[in-house]
Formats: sequence, structure tokens, C-alpha cells
Amino acid sequence: MFSQVNSEPICGTITTGKDLKLFEELKPVFKKYQSNFLSSKSTNSKSNSIAKNYIPIKAHIIRTSNGKGGIDEYELNEAINDLNNTFSGAFLEFFLCNDLNYIDNNNFYNFKSSDEKSLVEANNVPNVINIYFTNHIVNSSDEDICGYTYNKPNYDVIIIQNECATNNSSLAHEVGHFLSLIHTHGADNTCLTKELVNGNNCSSEGDQICDTPADPKLTNKNVNNFCRYIGTETDANGDSFLPDTSNIMSYSMKGCRSHFSDQQLARMYAYYMSTKNYLTCGDSSGVADSYEPVSSDDLDFKIYPNPISGDVVYAKPMNTTETFSYKISNLIGQTFSSGTLTNQPINVGYLASGTYLMTISNNHSKIIKRIIK
Ligand SMILES: [Zn+2]
Repeated sequence: MFSQVNSEPICGTITTGKDLKLFEELKPVFKKYQSNFLSSKSTNSKSNSIAKNYIPIKAHIIRTSNGKGGIDEYELNEAINDLNNTFSGAFLEFFLCNDLNYIDNNNFYNFKSSDEKSLVEANNVPNVINIYFTNHIVNSSDEDICGYTYNKPNYDVIIIQNECATNNSSLAHEVGHFLSLIHTHGADNTCLTKELVNGNNCSSEGDQICDTPADPKLTNKNVNNFCRYIGTETDANGDSFLPDTSNIMSYSMKGCRSHFSDQQLARMYAYYMSTKNYLTCGDSSGVADSYEPVSSDDLDFKIYPNPISGDVVYAKPMNTTETFSYKISNLIGQTFSSGTLTNQPINVGYLASGTYLMTISNNHSKIIKRIIK
């Protein structure tokens, strides 16, 4: 996991001057959502709690021209699960909207960023995050790229290498950019951050987020195999940097990166609420339809234990004696079991660990609950 490879592919997202201007304009709006978010997190009071938002992803799987290669469905599911684990606590959850789109094209399989227009024009679905999973990516300077995205209104595209998508950090990193986060070392990859170690200018320099320490730009040279910063850089005051080597938005080794700070989560929530909340899996035929808020005022089920600790799970209606059927499926809609709900436990011993959907319905009601094993 910690092998030091000097040629780790880099993140290709560039925070432009235009992006910074947009973030500056959004600051007052961000403030409102961020304070809601942080107060909701700091109290357990129900009245303060904010609802979780479900964000649709359209997965485009690029394979060779004869249909070989490409991320497989299991890996894709795992990648989405990992993404959601990293975002837990953000009141944001991602799900795959409708079918997977397979694109069989050798040219796109070894992708050059200059081919983005033709790829996207032929395949993009409006109002969802279009994630293109491909074998290899190079940018216009011929550098090996892990993934990249933009902060453009109504241009909802992430392009990522399969190996990076499944490394449990790079997909979250690109989604972080998509939701307005800047690298912890700042928008400029080429010069030392102006953010001071003492935090005095933290809201305007670096990543403009104050609970992430100033970062001189981490690399696999100044972070050791135990994820410790071993660099000697100092800031304008002569203070030594104490960066967070486990922050998802850093350039620390990918195996070291594991979390977003609370203020990063708040910022993404605020950006989503103010700028990207048009994202919806509109097609009524999709799995994702299930994620449309289902009013649970008059229909609710107790599902327990959840997370599932043994081989069985129970589902009991809370306030009705009607008969319901159930279905257990994964996040891309493959069904593993179905039947009529009774008082008997449902056997789930055969399910691998992960997140599943339990759909409970009869001819006039439907409710979907997530279960975790
Ligand atoms: Zn990046």
C-alpha cells in the first residue's frame, strides 16, 4: 500500500481564476448553508437537523472497441460505497442513476483530454454527474492523469482512471473538486502556498478553509511510509508547516488520504445546496427513482438490526396491517432476493458486506430503505 512509486498519476483538475471569482461571489451564500451545517452537526437536536441529499451519478464505462476491459460492476459498486463512506457526515450521498453506459472505443480507452468534447457530446446525460471511467488519461502536456473535473454550471463531468477510481481516495478527491474544494496547498500547483501556518489568512489563501492546516504541497518525497510529513519548508513567518497528510484534498500519497475536514464537508454541502441542487435522476424507470424522497409520514418500516450483524434481518411495518412484498438489491439495481413480508426473518447470510436497498411495496405504496451489512 505504501510502496513509493515516483510516477503516481496526478490530479488534473485546475482551479482557475474564474473558479476563484465564482467562489468569492458565493461566499455570502456559502456562509448561510455552512452555519446551518455546522450547527446541525454540533447538536443532536432534531429541530436543527438537516436532510440528507441524494446525488445521481451516471456511470459511463469505457472499454476497448471490442468490448474488453473497463471497470467491472462489482468494482464500481465498491467505488461508490467507498465514496459514500468518505462523504458520511456531509448530508450528501451518491447513487448510480439508471443503467451503466458502455462506450466501446479504443481511442477513449486510452483517453487524451483533447478528446473530451467528442466523448462528452456523444454521451453526457443532463442534470446528473457524468463520471467517465477509463483505462488511462493523459492531459495536453502528456502527463499521466488520475482524474479531473470542473466547476462549471451545468457541465457535470468527471473523468477518472479505473485504478484511481478504486483506490478509495481519488474519486472522493475529484468529487471534492466538483463540489468546489481547492487543493489544501492552494489553487496554484506551481508555487508555495501563501497560507500562513498560524492561520491568520486561512480564509483567503490556500484552500480558503480554516480547519485544514497550511500545506506546502505534499508529495511522496516529503511524506514518509508512515504518512508523516518529513519536509522542511517554512512559511513567510519562518514557521514550519504542519500539514494534514491524511486530507483527501492534498497531494499526499493516495494511501494516506482518508478524510475531509468538517469545514470542507460544510463547504461542499453549501456548494451543492446553492449551485448543484438541480442534479436529479429524472427518469422514472431508474433505480434512482427510489431515492426520490418518499413520504414516510404514513408508511414506515422498522428494519433491524441495521447494520446487519448476523445472517438475518427483520422488516416490520410501523402503523399498518397491509401486506407488502420486499426486494433486496444493490446500488445498481441487481436484485438478490424478493418475496412477501411476513413476521419471519429474511435470510441475508449470502450477501457480501456492503450497502443494499430494501424496497418494500404493495400496489399503492413504496418505500426504500438502505441496509448495511
Ligand atoms: Zn486535485
